[in-house]
Amino acid sequence: MTVDRDQVAQALDKVAAGRASGIAVRPDGNVGLVLAVDGLVPAAVTKLLGTVEIAVRALPGVTGVRIIQTAERGTPPAEPRPIRILAVASGKGGVGKSTISVNLAVALARRGLKIGLLDADIYGPSIPTLIDRHERAELVGNRLQPVDVFGIKALSMGMMTDPGKAIIWRGPMASSALTQMVELADWGDPDLLVVDMPPGTGDIQLTMAQKLKPVGAVIVSTPQDLALIDARRAISMFEQSHVPVLGIIENMGSYVCPDCGGTSHPFGHGGAEAEAEELGVPFLGRIPLAIAIREASDAGRPPASGDGPDAAAFKALATAVATALRL
Ligand code: ADP
Repeated sequence: MTVDRDQVAQALDKVAAGRASGIAVRPDGNVGLVLAVDGLVPAAVTKLLGTVEIAVRALPGVTGVRIIQTAERGTPPAEPRPIRILAVASGKGGVGKSTISVNLAVALARRGLKIGLLDADIYGPSIPTLIDRHERAELVGNRLQPVDVFGIKALSMGMMTDPGKAIIWRGPMASSALTQMVELADWGDPDLLVVDMPPGTGDIQLTMAQKLKPVGAVIVSTPQDLALIDARRAISMFEQSHVPVLGIIENMGSYVCPDCGGTSHPFGHGGAEAEAEELGVPFLGRIPLAIAIREASDAGRPPASGDGPDAAAFKALATAVATALRL
């Protein structure tokens, strides 16, 4: 005696509630069926397969069961990748944090990565100057449009207002504006979003560090003692927020004289590297103080987009950061 199709369908109705179709019963008692498993987590699929097989095999006359799994109703759309954020921070202003942020972003993009750059420096957003883009950010639908420039997508707090007008951001407003810029801007699924943080280690910075949940932070410092003390505070702020500190970047430690080619160390030599070692965080590299860097930056042409020795320094930095993030 062999089982008939209706008996199989009835048994399946009880255990597979509408997921079974294409039931075929062979004269030798082998049963074939299609099981739609869309929307189920892997453990639930395994369980369902087991239940279906047992239920069908229990029918008199069944000699074997063959189940084909499909997700024919379409698998649910893949969740968008969460945005990986790299925070570029400094304990105090004026150490070159924004300059490093832009050039690091450009150098990372030149490695073939998709890079976003968000200027979250609410006190003095300088990215518009550094990339020479001063327009207001456009809204398309409800999405803010970063500007495409030097191979990256950039958006600045400074693009939220008319040029020349400053917004006085209060803490909660600043951090919710920032969260919106991360979540609602059209970043186009970047590999990394470089965030130029406001300088310092106050409440705003702490809230931002906690809200953004960066995958890592880099601390920019000059080798001056004072700047390094501030860098230490920045490191401990990230550690409190459980954000891995990828390392310290020394800026403006050495000066290459454009006339004689000699190198000098206006703030002393090796301070940031020694400090990094003492604090047990990696030293990621150094960018010299160079007139060419300042001039190119002021003109809105990031040196990292060119081919000179300064571009090479930023390229090395990008390699260190990409390696630390396994990008
Ligand atoms: P921060 O973001 O820390 O306030 P900025 O990036 O705005 O600092 O830099 C402050 C000033 O120092 C700018 O005029 C910038 O062009 C200059 N600067 C930064 N880094 C260098 C460098 N490596 N060589 C020369 N000038 C630099």
